[in-house]
Amino acid sequence: MNAKVTVRDLRKRYGGVEAAAGVSFDIHDGEIFGLLGPNGAGKTTTVECVIGLRRPDAGTIEICGLDARRQPRAVKQKIGAALQTTALQDKITPREALALFGAFYARRAEPDALLDRFSLRDKANAPFDTLSGGQRQRLALALAFVNEPELVFLDEPTTGLDPQSRLELHAEIARMKQDGHTVLLTTHYIDEANALCDRVAIIDHGRIIAVGAPKDLIAASQAAPTVSFTTSRPLPAASLASLAPTGVTQDGAAVRFATTDVRRTLGDLLAIVDREGVDLTDLHVQKTTLEGVFIELTGSDLRD
Ligand code: ATP
Repeated sequence: MNAKVTVRDLRKRYGGVEAAAGVSFDIHDGEIFGLLGPNGAGKTTTVECVIGLRRPDAGTIEICGLDARRQPRAVKQKIGAALQTTALQDKITPREALALFGAFYARRAEPDALLDRFSLRDKANAPFDTLSGGQRQRLALALAFVNEPELVFLDEPTTGLDPQSRLELHAEIARMKQDGHTVLLTTHYIDEANALCDRVAIIDHGRIIAVGAPKDLIAASQAAPTVSFTTSRPLPAASLASLAPTGVTQDGAAVRFATTDVRRTLGDLLAIVDREGVDLTDLHVQKTTLEGVFIELTGSDLRD
């Protein structure tokens, strides 16, 4: 698999904070690659160093075969980026912004095509300060596409959006891949990484602590599987305690807990159900989720 991006031992320190503490990863041609981590993990710092907005203290960055630290101008022709917040002049319209940004590039897309693609046609001539959060985010994506980039960097593109706008943006990001673009996406939403990314790098305290396809990270996890079930009426607490002494979540007749011995636990559960004279109405055994992997690796939940 060809690497579109190769980052090795990237370091960036702000005073006493080592925001990137030796970050290394590859992004393959045509994949959606996720950088997943909590607030302050070093995602934005990493992306900003990779795309040439910040000068790293150390490390090598190769993009589309170019040394990004030596040839930043050539790299900028090949990439597009939508950062966390897009600040434009209050009165500039989407059509004007697309024309203006396009003028910086040798190769550029037609503003009308981008307005259609990102569902901004009816806001083409509206001042920026009248656009909603979702419309601003779509304009940021359209601007990232103005030079028809090979590679797109999206820094937390869905943060702060309502669920409907998030889903629309997810569809757009999936389409980028279908159209042959390579995408780097940073996020602190585990569901987003799971749904969109071919491979995910989990980053915490400026270090990448795992990389792989979500399903491979889950398969390699040592975290205990989860058993969840619902009964026709709630089981007594004493019965549940004999199934799993700790970590049981009970919400009425719905129960959830982790177990390292699924076979024994299910045998015990069937015996209890029989003894108590209740029916099992729902039963699931699930190998851990990406969230479970994250907690296992970082020792914490997403801190926000
Ligand atoms: P978020 O999800 O909140 O955007 P992040 O993973 O993108 O977080 P960064 O923004 O890269 O994380 O920040 C990493 C660390 O570096 C944090 O501790 C942050 O406070 C610090 N940091 C980031 N930018 C600066 C700066 N310009 N000056 C000083 N410290 C900074």
